[in-house]
Amino acid sequence: MPRALITGVTGQDGQYLAQFLHDRGYEVFGLVKGQNNPRGTLLQEEFPFVDVVSGDLQDLPSLVAALEYAQPDEVYNLGAISFVALSFRQAELTANVTGLGVLRMLEAIRMVGGRENPTRFYQASSSEMFGKVRETPQNEQTPFYPRSPYGVAKVFGHDITINYRDSYGLYACSGLLFNHESPRRGVEFVTRKVTNAVARIKLGLQQELALGSLEPRRDWGFAGDYVKAMWLMLQQDEPDDYVVATGQTHSVRDFVELAFQAAGIDDWQRFVRLDERFLRPSEVDLLVGDASKARKVLGWEPTMSFPELVTTMVAHDLDVEQRKAEGRR
Ligand code: NAP
Repeated sequence: MPRALITGVTGQDGQYLAQFLHDRGYEVFGLVKGQNNPRGTLLQEEFPFVDVVSGDLQDLPSLVAALEYAQPDEVYNLGAISFVALSFRQAELTANVTGLGVLRMLEAIRMVGGRENPTRFYQASSSEMFGKVRETPQNEQTPFYPRSPYGVAKVFGHDITINYRDSYGLYACSGLLFNHESPRRGVEFVTRKVTNAVARIKLGLQQELALGSLEPRRDWGFAGDYVKAMWLMLQQDEPDDYVVATGQTHSVRDFVELAFQAAGIDDWQRFVRLDERFLRPSEVDLLVGDASKARKVLGWEPTMSFPELVTTMVAHDLDVEQRKAEGRR
């Protein structure tokens, strides 16, 4: 039975990946930080097969202990301060967790190693590393120009992953994943903020949706598809880095319009208010990925279209908000 350790297991991707690996017969270990972390408790309720290990990406001894306990064949490093807006307010924490955390995990792997086979490592890199894009679409060779402390920290994580692969022969891959969403996305992220607000407006529980800007364009896919790409990267003969994206870009405006339409509201403009407080000190205007390498080498394809993704998220939030309003879970 193969064994996998997931950091960030309580997050959106961690949950999809835990289920994906469990369905493939893996023994799944999940690193959960803090004492009495409520998201760890929720995780254990919903995914009882995950063996929860206490640890923090800021604490090397805890990572060593987690590896000694789990003895994983594969480590998926998804843990991060991942919310770009927060990274501006807590830049040092972001550098420590999202950047140095990668180095600590790589060091822990070097120290503990694998059972019979060397442990394989996946790093969750991000399209935010492309930032003020140098070319369109972005591929594995596109130079980075990050526009946030989050993007800068991810560049460090990406580069140190490649450096450890080159220097120590680790089987280490970096997935340059473009935005991926789902009903499990945190409500702080713009997509889920929109679908949640749309559901609440539809049910008369909220009057308006405040957003920073409708102009940024992103390449949005479905998280369930993207965790498969992570796994595929670790099943190859040689470690490598891959862009994972749909190849289509849409604006926040497109997302908002579709979300309201999915709830049967056409005059969406009257519910949306622009609020400067949600603007970032420096924004990423346009991202669109070229995933031809992942398609060719990994055989990976996205399965969910943009309209389907938005509709699914709205339907989920309508259901959740309806249940809450009726006092059901
Ligand atoms: P997420 O929902 O925000 O989850 C982040 C996870 O990191 C949570 O489980 C969180 O734990 C954990 N974490 C935070 N600080 C930690 C620490 N000090 N030690 C250990 N774990 C810590 O993120 P996601 O959307 O699932 O994304 C997964 C990874 O992919 C992240 O690294 C993200 O930056 C990257 N990524 C995401 C996207 C995307 O569109 N979703 C795109 C490209 C790359 P708590 O729940 O306890 O806070």
